[in-house]
Amino acid sequence: MPVKIDSSVELYRKLPSVDELQRSRELMALAAKEGQTAVTGAARTVLASLREEIAAGRLDGNGLDLALSGLGDAVARQVRQALKYSLRTVINASGVILHTNLGRAPLPASALAHIGEIAAGYSNLELDLETGDRGKRDVHVDRLFRKLLDESAGADVLARAAEPRISTIVVNNNAAAVLLALNTLADQGEVIVSRGELVEIGGSFRIPDVMSKSNAILREVGTTNRTRIGDYERAINEKTRLLLRVHRSNFQITGFTEQPQIEELVALARKRNIPLVEDLGSGALFDLRSVGVNGEPSVLDSLRQGVDVVAYSGDKLLGGPQAGMLSGRSDLIARMRSNSLFRALRADKLTYAALEATLLAYVKGEHSAIPAVRMMRLSKDEIGRRAEAVANKLQSPRLTVEVSDGESVIGGGAAPSATLPTALLAITREGLSADEFSARLRASDPPIIARVEDGRVLLDLRTVFPEQDDIIAQSLKQVAEN
Ligand SMILES: *Cc1c(COP(=O)(O)O)cnc(C)c1O
Repeated sequence: MPVKIDSSVELYRKLPSVDELQRSRELMALAAKEGQTAVTGAARTVLASLREEIAAGRLDGNGLDLALSGLGDAVARQVRQALKYSLRTVINASGVILHTNLGRAPLPASALAHIGEIAAGYSNLELDLETGDRGKRDVHVDRLFRKLLDESAGADVLARAAEPRISTIVVNNNAAAVLLALNTLADQGEVIVSRGELVEIGGSFRIPDVMSKSNAILREVGTTNRTRIGDYERAINEKTRLLLRVHRSNFQITGFTEQPQIEELVALARKRNIPLVEDLGSGALFDLRSVGVNGEPSVLDSLRQGVDVVAYSGDKLLGGPQAGMLSGRSDLIARMRSNSLFRALRADKLTYAALEATLLAYVKGEHSAIPAVRMMRLSKDEIGRRAEAVANKLQSPRLTVEVSDGESVIGGGAAPSATLPTALLAITREGLSADEFSARLRASDPPIIARVEDGRVLLDLRTVFPEQDDIIAQSLKQVAEN
């Protein structure tokens, strides 16, 4: 249609160039404040989107004139948008304590303070202050892990023991820890794993893939639902380097199932002189039975039972920063430390600072200082009282609010059945579907992340910091009224 092409050519002609636009007094002032680079980038973006509008036939002459009169404001808005942080805090009202999409464990205040202090200046990260020699970065946390995990160590464990029985090294995350363990102990050799444990953890961590990247050869035994100790025993040959046990983090096999007891695996590993490594995933440093969750072994439980090396995450049940730990027999850990992969996977000083502070809270028995652990310990009654208080602030004819029984999820690779009884705020908003309602909550500032179930929006205050309760009430009111 020639008419349309002609007129759009005319519309394009009306657009100023980036240069012309930048020379306006308004944008020169903006550049003096926010920097020329930001303003140039924003001017380009705004003009490009106008060109797109014209191309799509969505702008006529009048529409374009209007847009051109507000061009300076549009560029200023775009500059503000571009200079805003993309990574923001959100309020987690989902009731999932360790939510990978929401950054897993919130850090203890002492960890934040320690990070601030260590990261703002220089530190003895790799300097032995006594001798003046080069030191190892892992000593800062190894001494605390030993205190928490090595029961044979005496009271002087914080001093340098000559030959520790249990050592711990830290890498970037648990996926890296598993990779390092497999590569160190089973390079070009076979690793025996039950078919029932060949898991994929969210975000494409698949045991068979990690195995091939580590240069170890996967030797699957048993079937998806049943593996017996005899299956492992029969698979052992001269190429076998390792027995691997993987925690089934995110699924359950129920019904006709069988997996060997950890004791049986330990006995077999000892008899054949093959190390047993366990990918525990979550790795609690406290007894989960204390919050009513059974059947989830802690790191200490596994080591106590005779597992040689345990791999686990720092930001799951441990409640600290993203990190991957390998704890176990000192001779095996020493081999992992001298693998060049360890250097490639090493954690930074911020991680060490956060981890040291978190571990110190465990050593001092200050479990409530660790937010994830504190949230697990909240009683349903306490959460219910807070939910009632929020509900009482929501007198709006457009909202239907109810406090009802439900379940919080520990998440982060604890057993899928690891839930805690809670009290939920169940809310509907007249004229909005539950999905639309939850999208509005996500769009509030700060964004609120809720659950949607059976046509209602569910908010679980277990994962909400008490000082955020009022913000939730205000945001809900706003969504009700607008
Ligand atoms: C979570 C998990 C991992 C991965 O840990 P990251 O710290 O996220 O790398 C590996 N194995 C198991 C069993 C897990 O639960």
